[in-house]
Amino acid sequence: MMKAGIVMVACMASTQCMAENRGVQPAVPLREVDRDIDAVRPKLITWRRDIHSHPELSGQEVRTSKLVADHLRALGLEVTTDVGGHGVVGLLRGGRPGKVVALRADMDALPVKEATGLPFASTVTAPYMDDRAPVMHACGHDGHTAILMGVAEVLVRRKASIPGTVKFIFQPAEEGVSDPRAADAKIGAAAMIAQGVLERPKVDAIFGLHIMPMIPTGTVGYRSGPLLGSADAFEIKIQGKATHGGIPWRGIDPIVTSAKVVLDLQTIVSRQLDISKEPAVITVGSFHGGNRGNIIPESVTMLGTLRTFDDAMRADAKQRIVTVTESVANAHGAKGEVHFAAPGVSVTSNDAALTERMIPALRLATNGKAVVTPKISGTEDFSEFQKVVPGVYVFLGAPPKGKTTETAAANHSPLFDFDEDAMPVGVRTLTTLALDYLASPSAK
Ligand SMILES: [Zn+2]
Ligand SMILES: [Zn+2]
Repeated sequence: MMKAGIVMVACMASTQCMAENRGVQPAVPLREVDRDIDAVRPKLITWRRDIHSHPELSGQEVRTSKLVADHLRALGLEVTTDVGGHGVVGLLRGGRPGKVVALRADMDALPVKEATGLPFASTVTAPYMDDRAPVMHACGHDGHTAILMGVAEVLVRRKASIPGTVKFIFQPAEEGVSDPRAADAKIGAAAMIAQGVLERPKVDAIFGLHIMPMIPTGTVGYRSGPLLGSADAFEIKIQGKATHGGIPWRGIDPIVTSAKVVLDLQTIVSRQLDISKEPAVITVGSFHGGNRGNIIPESVTMLGTLRTFDDAMRADAKQRIVTVTESVANAHGAKGEVHFAAPGVSVTSNDAALTERMIPALRLATNGKAVVTPKISGTEDFSEFQKVVPGVYVFLGAPPKGKTTETAAANHSPLFDFDEDAMPVGVRTLTTLALDYLASPSAK
């Protein structure tokens, strides 16, 4: 979870800042864009609260995607629905030739029981696994959806002067499938890409943002290279041989063996990986075996997660998890098996050249409040888009009113909320990134 340590970039309307910003020539003067953002501001709040009080789990985004598609159609965009599930794609063809820039928002909510007490708090439940679960927008995707709807409305007014095409990608199922037992299925960004969302017309660059209460409102956090981690869920089974708890020599104890496996897995990060390059985390969060104190059980099952910020370290760590498990189990006469849930989530890594190129635009959009942010060991399937096209993902600061960056509830908490004043900043950020990317000479 992200805490302090954000380095402010010294660019607060200083001479240096203005010099840095001089190279940025958006296709539309920001003053005019700001007028349109002001006009759309009340709608942002209306959309956000409507979506917030009607949250939908991953793969169930029927109402949200209809709201989005209706809005994009009303704006006169070319709209495609049901892309990779309930995904919606809107195409805004500018009046002048140029490249294609994509902007992405995710639309899904989480199985969390809301405890914010907000007047528009969710009371919704929905099918989840074999039961029903309370549903809440506990990650700010309601805000992301409203922001991108707002960006579409702002940009469509400038259609004639836009040099290129803007593709609006409203993505379902970012948080993963509602039923973890179907985790191997292609979902979210991967499902949209498989259905050609980055083709027809071919996308040249993609931008996205995530609401982040640990950064001040009005501020955008960026980072070149790894920003969010990879995630690989794994299941380990240690097969022993059941026996009486008083005569362990007649069997093979999977509990003691598994305890050794848990401890030795921790040495992968602390003794084997080069953590001066990137950090990594291995956690075993579930340990199940046996049902009585005087019976040594047949087997133990453990569940865990691997987080890294580097593809090579990720592959290496996965191999080491298998090696440690099998070797420790063998040493105790047991059998160890590791199963990784495919395909996992890749590192969200911002293209270095594109990040560098967009920093002045980020500063311009935030009046200099663009900060370098620490990496976070959460995950984002925005990484799927970045595997295909250069992409930059940023954090939108938004601690709720009355809270600070320290006291605000984290994403996925039942108390999660954000400052709605951050939404116009988000609109300005994505609008500026799109216009600046399309307007810069190398984009022609
Ligand atoms: Zn989330
Ligand atoms: Zn999220």
